[in-house]
Amino acid sequence: MANPNIDGISKTSFSIHGVGVSSGIAIGHAHLVSNALREVVHYQLQQYAIAEEVARFEQAVITVKTELEAIRKQLPKSAPAELGAFIATHLMMLADKSLSEVPKNIILKEQCNAEWAIKLQMDDIVDQFEQIEDEYLRERKQDVVQVVERVIKVLLGHPNQAPNIKNSQSSNKEQESAIILVAHDISPADAIQFKQHQFAAFITDVGGVTSHTAILARSLNIPSIVALQRARDLVRDGELIIVDGGMGVVIVNPSPEILAEYKLRQEEWELEQQKLKRIKSNKAITMDGTPIALFANIEVPEDVDAVKASGATGIGLYRSEFLFMNRREMPDEEEQFIAYKTVVEAMNDLEVTIRTLDLGADKQMNPETVSNCANPALGLRAVRYCLSEPQIFHTQFRALLRASHFGQLKILVPMLCTLAELRQTKLLLERAKISLRKENIPFDENIALGGMIEIPAAAINANAFARELDFLSIGTNDLIQYTLAIDRTDDAVAHLYNPLHPSVLHLISLTLQAGAKLGKTVSICGEMAGDTKLTKLLLGMGLRHFSMHPSNLLSVKQQVLQSDVNKLSVAARKILNNDEIEKIELLVNKMNH
Ligand code: PEP
Ligand code: MG
Repeated sequence: MANPNIDGISKTSFSIHGVGVSSGIAIGHAHLVSNALREVVHYQLQQYAIAEEVARFEQAVITVKTELEAIRKQLPKSAPAELGAFIATHLMMLADKSLSEVPKNIILKEQCNAEWAIKLQMDDIVDQFEQIEDEYLRERKQDVVQVVERVIKVLLGHPNQAPNIKNSQSSNKEQESAIILVAHDISPADAIQFKQHQFAAFITDVGGVTSHTAILARSLNIPSIVALQRARDLVRDGELIIVDGGMGVVIVNPSPEILAEYKLRQEEWELEQQKLKRIKSNKAITMDGTPIALFANIEVPEDVDAVKASGATGIGLYRSEFLFMNRREMPDEEEQFIAYKTVVEAMNDLEVTIRTLDLGADKQMNPETVSNCANPALGLRAVRYCLSEPQIFHTQFRALLRASHFGQLKILVPMLCTLAELRQTKLLLERAKISLRKENIPFDENIALGGMIEIPAAAINANAFARELDFLSIGTNDLIQYTLAIDRTDDAVAHLYNPLHPSVLHLISLTLQAGAKLGKTVSICGEMAGDTKLTKLLLGMGLRHFSMHPSNLLSVKQQVLQSDVNKLSVAARKILNNDEIEKIELLVNKMNH
């Protein structure tokens, strides 16, 4: 279908379908996140075009230099300390003859285009770095790659920084300048940087519903769709697109009628969101008087504002690993202490549960650090990694304990599988306490220690974990991944990732029962907690503590206010006795209506 678009040129309208991970409707212009190195074309130049090509290269280097200097100047105060140094290194590399001069000689000698020339030179430099024995220096090759990528992006005509816009959806004029990020893939480390910008929506070719990239997209509180397969190839820079996050649909170059229809839907959706705000200060109590705790999940201290705006009971999951990303070196005790203390103090006397480092799998310290093990999700991640690097664990425990003096801090340990891991962890926590006592540094002597139940083995053995811990928190994102053997980041199996699989429900139920029997709080902090289609089922199963993205909180509260747990528990029992997904889905639908 061809549509006369805003600029009067006929453009083909089409839609792409993926998996919606964050609801809402956005209308704006596509900004393609470049995958520049993959896009490099090779062509030979005529003699007369060589001088022009050299000039094009020189101009690209100047543009990148200006860009980097601007980024350095505009770094927010909250940016990791190393980021400034990082950019300075990139500027130095760019100024080095090997990147700014040698490619020009290659263009002259080989008569090749500028992108190809700098790529050839990059390959050469990277080869030299590979020979270096020192691991740290060897890793600097990634800096070279990043600088070259920037130059290539400019050569290809992709602007590096998307312009900042104030409020992507507030008026028609601004809507026209709203920017929708279109990427093949975005690593969690990149996505966290996007928090500084205000994009209208976020769409990617790959990724599963509970991949960390999707989780971050949700926390940005903008419509997001993953698993679109070929959006990055099909959409062009600047094209007008509609993103319907709820339905998982992207419409490219919409007709005027479709555009009008979606503008209407967008207004309705925003009105709904406004209405929800009215229940912000209502207590979360079911119709039959059962109080429900609604906590929020955060990734960085800046998320606290959104938590407060949502009226959450506290923070049920602070994913501390995001403090460790996009950098070369681990944050030291002081830096961690300040981050944790900032959150704890900002939340006044409300509870803040901070999870210890959950690095590994799709959450690498550095976007370029690709895990070389075959199954990273089953590898040395989370608590396993921390136990293998006790000094890292010790530093984090000391920082957490010190911050506990300033508010209500609880510690949560991810990916527990065996009691031996738990006991080793406790030993290390005790050691950190002893070291602080020796130095007369105050901390909460009664600090609560909880464990995440996200491996089926831990759920089956939940009684034992409940006995030895102060509280449990079910990480349904990983629990589903490991129970169903479905990689949560793999879009090819995203359709099989189903929280309503009877085995998943059974494991959640086992954990809830263990908590009830031993008088320990059990919460869910995985994405299931923020899914309004599941609120009633979880209430019926006995869940009383939910932790989710602040953006989901009011919708979940609305469900809570309309629930009667006595009735729901009867319906939930029936669901748990069922062993067919399709029937369970029908029963859950019935429960919701
Ligand atoms: C989970 O696995 O459900 C969870 C909350 O942790 P993460 O998503 O960070 O792995
Ligand atoms: Mg997890």
